[in-house]
Amino acid sequence: MQNVIVTECNKCVSCFACSIACKVENNVPLNNHWTRILRVGPYPIEEGDTFPNVEMYFLPIKCQHCRNPHCCTVCPTGASHKTEDGTVQVDKEKCIGCQFCVMACPYNVRHLNEEEGVVEKCTMCEQRIAAGELPECVASCTGNAMHFGDIDDPSSEVSQIVSEAGDDVYYLPNEGNDPANVFILHKMKWRF
Ligand code: SF4
Ligand code: SF4
Repeated sequence: MQNVIVTECNKCVSCFACSIACKVENNVPLNNHWTRILRVGPYPIEEGDTFPNVEMYFLPIKCQHCRNPHCCTVCPTGASHKTEDGTVQVDKEKCIGCQFCVMACPYNVRHLNEEEGVVEKCTMCEQRIAAGELPECVASCTGNAMHFGDIDDPSSEVSQIVSEAGDDVYYLPNEGNDPANVFILHKMKWRF
């Protein structure tokens, strides 16, 4: 089983609703963001093009709940661990705040909670999943761009979306960590 969030980038308008809803739901400290919106572009459609022949899209970035998470490999106490539903979690009781995991993650999605002296990140809203609800970012997405489910179950909604996307399926760069979350870049480009 591998729970993931699939993001259809053509539907993301960078409203930041997911980022703010995440902070509220998870009581994320000031200056920390468990989900951020990365703007890609604008860049020329064809080499040498100038405005308005440019395109741009947004990538909501958070923990990718990797299948081979480097953060867990380097954690000296076992605080960072992969769970049965495929998500990667931090056991705060075991975390000593060494931040090895922060340095090992390729995507800069882990943050030290200075008040508690422990590292935190996207939990895929494990508390909401346990209650049968969607992760808060998925539930609050104004563009209905995000979908949640088990990518290892061929009959799940996320598997159907990924299967229909074909070559437009995109993962963040794989540095041996095998990121699990999926981006769909079909028709993602905004043309002015
Ligand atoms: Fe760990 Fe970073 Fe992968 Fe999340 S994205 S599982 S923090 S290596
Ligand atoms: Fe935050 Fe939950 Fe979305 Fe993860 S799944 S980014 S914890 S709102």
